[in-house]
Amino acid sequence: MKYPFLDLATINAPFNAEIKDALCRVTDSGRYIGGPEVERLEAAMAELTGARHAIGTSNGLDALRLILRGYMELGRMRPGDEVIVPSNTYIASVLAVSDCGLVPVPVEPRRDTMNLDSRRLEEAIGPRTRAIMAVHLYGRIATNDRMLDLAARHRLLLIEDAAQAIGARDEHGRAAGNIGHAAGFSFYPTKNIGALGDAGAVTTSDPQLAEAIAALRNYGSDYTYHNIYQGLNCRLDPMQAAVVALKLPHTAEVNAYRRRLAEIYNSEISNPLIEKPLFQPDDYCVWHQYVVKTAERDRFRNFLADNGVETLVHYPVPPHLQPCYPQLAGLSLPVAEQLGRQVTSLPITACTSEQDALEISRIINRYSND
Ligand SMILES: *Cc1c(COP(=O)(O)O)cnc(C)c1O
Repeated sequence: MKYPFLDLATINAPFNAEIKDALCRVTDSGRYIGGPEVERLEAAMAELTGARHAIGTSNGLDALRLILRGYMELGRMRPGDEVIVPSNTYIASVLAVSDCGLVPVPVEPRRDTMNLDSRRLEEAIGPRTRAIMAVHLYGRIATNDRMLDLAARHRLLLIEDAAQAIGARDEHGRAAGNIGHAAGFSFYPTKNIGALGDAGAVTTSDPQLAEAIAALRNYGSDYTYHNIYQGLNCRLDPMQAAVVALKLPHTAEVNAYRRRLAEIYNSEISNPLIEKPLFQPDDYCVWHQYVVKTAERDRFRNFLADNGVETLVHYPVPPHLQPCYPQLAGLSLPVAEQLGRQVTSLPITACTSEQDALEISRIINRYSND
């Protein structure tokens, strides 16, 4: 393909020398679990988000599981309690909820932002609702004043799934990870800041939750051979911590480049068959994906592939239609289902030049009904 969707080796190439140094430093240190590399990344995540605490985790799904488990251990949620999740999210947001014995309640997104529709939230809140999992899908902040108000009024915990949104800010300038009560991040290799394997983090300004999660990720141990919880092993690997820590200072620049490509797509794509994502000047969206919608998605993707443009679909099947959730299969969630049929993600990483984005836009403008 002339315009690949993404190639991780190319994305990591500018960091290669620093990565090799960092990995050698860990090798030579003899410290392979926990320790200063993990602590350094945690301090950097707290600094980047503005949250008081950051706890490194094995991956993004575990970050979300640990937040929910932490609240359960602290008595703020019980098995069977409900957590609102967006109906069009990546399934990991929902898996975290069900894994903890909590009940996911999918709520439809707005078609334009593709994020939770705060107008539909209120009707989904019942006596067992304890939390809202706001997923900053595709790098766009999902929370807003209305949602924050609603959470406060109903005493709900607001959990951010910030896996796709490192460095994103809302219209008030608040960073992903410091808007709700706790947030989960992922450093999966394809995320805006990616490790060389699995890695993640929780951020929160709640010291009790931070302490509970720090113990839960480490067998539930608060100090050596003393276990206050029936915990897990969900620690962040120091090798990955070292890699993520050296990339983290480049977050603003990585995101600015994606924003530049999004601007090009937004100004250059002008095909009535293609619905562009909402482009809002006042929030700082970090464009983890640039997702367009079109009726005949497969025909559109084939046309792009024939013209050398590689695309992906995030995501074709919403969680409630996955075979693992038969209990959700009967729900009527037409917005999520239609998005599943219509969305296409365009290339938007360091592998795509500004010239490429221009050419891809021109190719898209040539797509027609005949
Ligand atoms: C990637 C992702 C996760 C899971 O992160 P992992 O590190 O892959 O476990 C969770 N939620 C969303 C929205 C994601 O994109």
